[in-house]
Amino acid sequence: MLKYVRKKTIILDMILSALVLPSWKNLLFFVLFTLCFSLYIHHWSALTAEKKKLESYVKKITDRTQQSVFQLKTSLTLANQSKAASCSPEDINMLRDILANYPYVNDIGRISSADEVTCSVLWGVLSEPKKLPNKSIQDSSFQKSWTEVSGFFSANQQRSIFNIGHSFAVSSPTTFLDISRHSQKIGGVLYTPTEKKIHHLFDDITYQQAQSVITSPPKQHLWLPIPNNFLVSTSCPPHYEFCVTGIDTRIGIYDMNIIEWLKIIISGILAGVVLSFGVRLFKSNRRTLIYRLKYAIKTDEIYSLYQPKIHLKTGKIIGVEALARWDDKELGSVSPDVFIHCAEANQLITPLTKKLIVKNLKEIGSFLKNDPTFLLSINLSVQDLSDQSFLNFVDNHVKKNGINAEQIIFEVTERSAAENNVLKRATKHFLRKGYQISLDDFGTGFSNLSWLTTFEPNEIKIDKMFVQSIGTQTVSQIALNGIFQLVGNLNVALVFEGIESVEEARYVLQHSPNAIGQGWLYSKAIDVEALQHLLDTQPYMDVSFLESQK
Ligand code: C2E
Ligand code: MG
Ligand code: MG
Repeated sequence: MLKYVRKKTIILDMILSALVLPSWKNLLFFVLFTLCFSLYIHHWSALTAEKKKLESYVKKITDRTQQSVFQLKTSLTLANQSKAASCSPEDINMLRDILANYPYVNDIGRISSADEVTCSVLWGVLSEPKKLPNKSIQDSSFQKSWTEVSGFFSANQQRSIFNIGHSFAVSSPTTFLDISRHSQKIGGVLYTPTEKKIHHLFDDITYQQAQSVITSPPKQHLWLPIPNNFLVSTSCPPHYEFCVTGIDTRIGIYDMNIIEWLKIIISGILAGVVLSFGVRLFKSNRRTLIYRLKYAIKTDEIYSLYQPKIHLKTGKIIGVEALARWDDKELGSVSPDVFIHCAEANQLITPLTKKLIVKNLKEIGSFLKNDPTFLLSINLSVQDLSDQSFLNFVDNHVKKNGINAEQIIFEVTERSAAENNVLKRATKHFLRKGYQISLDDFGTGFSNLSWLTTFEPNEIKIDKMFVQSIGTQTVSQIALNGIFQLVGNLNVALVFEGIESVEEARYVLQHSPNAIGQGWLYSKAIDVEALQHLLDTQPYMDVSFLESQK
């Protein structure tokens, strides 16, 4: 329950610290960024959709033109098969029958070799033949065709005249009437590919625009949402003498209405705010203890220093305690009291302990092998002991390094009654394998006394709180005297933590002649090289050592 609450508080802390408003500069930057980004994305997606629609518009005109060409050609072929005298009533009647079958043909009639219209279904027989313009287009589908025939039809009606043999046919102005564009500012042009003669203009395109787009197709930089850009799509079906080009002159963000602009602006601003908070959360998350600790464990940044344990009477270094150290780039040097606690609260402790044990065995292995009486103390958490595979892991590594199990002391601290059973079960397994067990921080735990009587640890470490009370006439000092009496007769090694002064060392020695001491009077936790030097010189064995510290 406590763990659960602790975990939740850490998460809450993270959220609260992230919710502190990001700086205005950052916010503005992210809002501008997401605004531009969402405009750009919208521009692109709109452009893709518009391109498809323009292509379908061009395709519809192309298909319709193909049908129209087919009807014009067929009607002319049939007209040329007439046996009746040209422009006779029978001839006109036959032409009328043909015309009735082809809706994209507006009129059909006869033409002389001098390109003069003599009669047609709609005009009847002309009293005077009417000359077509000299400028005609040659193409493979028809013999000739005329696109600019303004004198023949009323203005604004786009029609072309086509000729095969002695017949002509007029395209219908309604041929393309039902072909609709999908939005404003879209237009098309139907023209001949070789001579670039315009047959027909569709929707929003001027003659000049059509001319320029078919004579010199524009180089487009569509990825840039600049104004005056336009989409172009061209289709030139094989075996036909025509092409269709469609243009869309208002595209992407330039084709949006006010509602769409509002939507993009609001969503852009919202995304900017969310992103800015997100980045802040991410950054603060990266700076949190848990994040840094996970990273440090993964990258093997946590290491151990070794604090010597001294047999007080002789001053001999009888072993070392491995103490974890972490110097983080962002957080600086973090105390083990803090990060071990954090690792325990976040289920990171066992992976950390395993990594440290591997390092400890490697670094202290040679000291242990050189001196079979030398001891290595390793701190464990209750979580390590509840992990079923932990003992096997340790045992394999100890064997791999050729180290005696008896030279390894595991220090455990009892913190709650609930942990009592786990400790009991696990320590029994360790003891059976030959390892030593030390009860760390004696006097501060939950029920040290009951633990002591349940089974016997090899070592008891009296918490430094008691040693530091020496000479203070406090409750702790009285308790320390009680501890001397209580554990003095037990068959266990007694280690006194936190000896900082000669007086403390003397007092401990007076009351417990065989005591082992650990403290800054002798040495802080040091690296392997310094330890080697200490072991070589054994400075504490010299009786003058204590005198020199006064
Ligand atoms: P601990 O196991 O009781 O270790 C003794 C602590 O007392 C160490 O603190 C040591 O530096 C400090 N100390 C030693 N002599 C003196 C002294 O003369 N005066 C004072 N004031 N302090 C002294 P440290 O290294 O900060 O470690 C704190 C605790 O963190 C340890 O208490 C232990 O419970 C835990 N810890 C350290 N390393 C590990 C580890 O690798 N694994 C686990 N599970 N816990 C660790
Ligand atoms: Mg310890
Ligand atoms: Mg301790």
